[in-house]
Amino acid sequence: MNNNTVGVATGTNAQAEERTLAVPRGLVFDGGDSTDTLRKARILMVDDEPITLEVMRDFLEEAGYANLYDTSEPEQAMPLIAAEAPDLVLLDLMMPVVNGFDILSWMRADERHRHIPVIVLTSSTNAATKLKALELGATDFLAKPVDASELALRIRNTLAAKVHLDRLAYIDSLTGLPNRRMFQDHLDWALSQAQRHERVGALMHINVDHFKKVNEALGPAVADALLQQIGQRLEYGVRDCDSVGRIGRNSLQLSRVGGDEFAVLLSEMARVDDAIGVARRLLESVRAPFQVAGHELFVSCSIGVAVFPGDGMERNALLQNAGVAMHSARQQGGNAWRFYSSDLNQRSLQSLGLQSDLHKAIERGELRLYFQPKVCTATGGIVGAEALIRWQHPERGFIRPDDFIPLAEENGLIVPIGAWVIAEACRRLRAWHKQGLSLPRISVNVSGRQFGAPGFYDSVRATLEVSGVDARCLTFEVTESILMENADESIALLKRFKAMGLKLSMDDFGTGYSSLSYLRRFPLDELKIDRSFLAELDDDGTEGKALITAIIVLGHSLGLSIVAEGVETETQLALLRELGCDECQGFLFSRPVAAEEFERLLAAH
Ligand code: C2E
Ligand code: CA
Ligand code: CA
Repeated sequence: MNNNTVGVATGTNAQAEERTLAVPRGLVFDGGDSTDTLRKARILMVDDEPITLEVMRDFLEEAGYANLYDTSEPEQAMPLIAAEAPDLVLLDLMMPVVNGFDILSWMRADERHRHIPVIVLTSSTNAATKLKALELGATDFLAKPVDASELALRIRNTLAAKVHLDRLAYIDSLTGLPNRRMFQDHLDWALSQAQRHERVGALMHINVDHFKKVNEALGPAVADALLQQIGQRLEYGVRDCDSVGRIGRNSLQLSRVGGDEFAVLLSEMARVDDAIGVARRLLESVRAPFQVAGHELFVSCSIGVAVFPGDGMERNALLQNAGVAMHSARQQGGNAWRFYSSDLNQRSLQSLGLQSDLHKAIERGELRLYFQPKVCTATGGIVGAEALIRWQHPERGFIRPDDFIPLAEENGLIVPIGAWVIAEACRRLRAWHKQGLSLPRISVNVSGRQFGAPGFYDSVRATLEVSGVDARCLTFEVTESILMENADESIALLKRFKAMGLKLSMDDFGTGYSSLSYLRRFPLDELKIDRSFLAELDDDGTEGKALITAIIVLGHSLGLSIVAEGVETETQLALLRELGCDECQGFLFSRPVAAEEFERLLAAH
């Protein structure tokens, strides 16, 4: 047997089973049906006479075929076919134990091998034998002893037909990329491999954002041309990852799986982070504008990532989960990627440069403040607003504060970020006041690490001065944990802020440990009842009602204004009104909205 080729002439069934399965791929990878493509065909030769195998191998190698497999043990044929997914089988008919007819009928009965062409080797001139082989699905005949030129020609012709059929079956005619069917075959294959070798892989569902608009505005011809170009760009993106990154060659494959939908299969990866690298690269690859039929078009994508085995080991479940993740990316405004697993989404924020992205977020202007009105329970008038931060990440879209504020607290970035929040809130408030809009107060959230940082007091004073905002218009929302940690220092600092005129609010009240009597020690103005209590007001609500009543009564006795957060229903509002809660905040009145929208809200008010 020739060492340069991947021949398997001997071995037990078990060994053949252990071999790495070949990627089912058809003969379409290089496109076209050039001689080069044909010569890459995987050809399996089965004959019980080793000498015939040797002769055929010599002839075929001479003709330039490089992927030759053979076995002289007929019982090895079926496992080999299953393992290697050959493009063509050369099959002897008359063999001991398992004859060629058995193998042929087995192949034709199995969906996976049904379409593999089989050239039957026969020394017999017996018409009945030929007829039987034809009936069982043989593609062609080759007479023994084998003649070199006849062998080469029959193989060429058979493979040329297969290339054409494979293209029709597996290739998307618009983009030339593998189609949905090929993608599914590959996914099945990758999953079986992952199971067998305990591998990790990922499936990415890519959707072009707002593609429908292009279609409607510019027509299907332009839309098709755009899709072609997008396919090319994504393909470059995938090739880049494949050759530059840690990702092994050929473990990445791009397919077009629907109208404006593409998919990438990452059949093997070292770490889950590899998938992030690929997703980023793909988003990047479509960033530059497209030139289509005289139009300059800007395109972005939403990518959903499902990881196996974590998010499933079954094709349809994984496809569905990647789709769910894609929708979530799109809902955040697109041009973003998301894992299906929320765990991975959180973890990914802490790794792979998102820390350093957060560093740059301020200077790049990616942080935004959203505003949610605080409403007077009695009159329904807007008496204030809470500023809530959002991070508009260039790739991941909107990131919610719960996902990055903890990270910012860990790495200290909360200090500059918090300073930006206060400055931005003051700038907006000042601008609204200048426009004659009425907004008595604005609240910002101040985290523990920020509060305890040296120079915090001075920076706040400077910000107020620069912005020209009256300190009495600014409220700090702090949580119980800040106050518990360094109680004495915190109290001293809070008093200095109070002296300046600032208002202080205890946020998320009821979630920590502090008792109401403990609150007396702190110079507070306001108490925000945590929204978890509100949720209990809806159903039967007797217990929740008792708690809220107690908080309101005691809070009032300490001279505090009581704010309920998370008010979502009229029922809740009616009860809070009845109980004498001073202010309400929640989706019932408005979600947190961008500054421009909040401005409209104020103006309409
Ligand atoms: P929080 O201070 O308790 O803010 C209120 C959260 O409740 C906001 O979530 C808001 O969108 C949400 N919310 C408002 N009304 C309703 C409602 O009716 N129903 C429900 N289910 N939720 C409602 P968001 O904006 O995601 O902020 C989450 C947390 O992130 C905030 O909780 C706050 O602790 C923190 N955060 C936000 N912005 C900043 C900031 O600038 N600095 C710091 N240090 N933390 C911030
Ligand atoms: Ca708050
Ligand atoms: Ca809160």
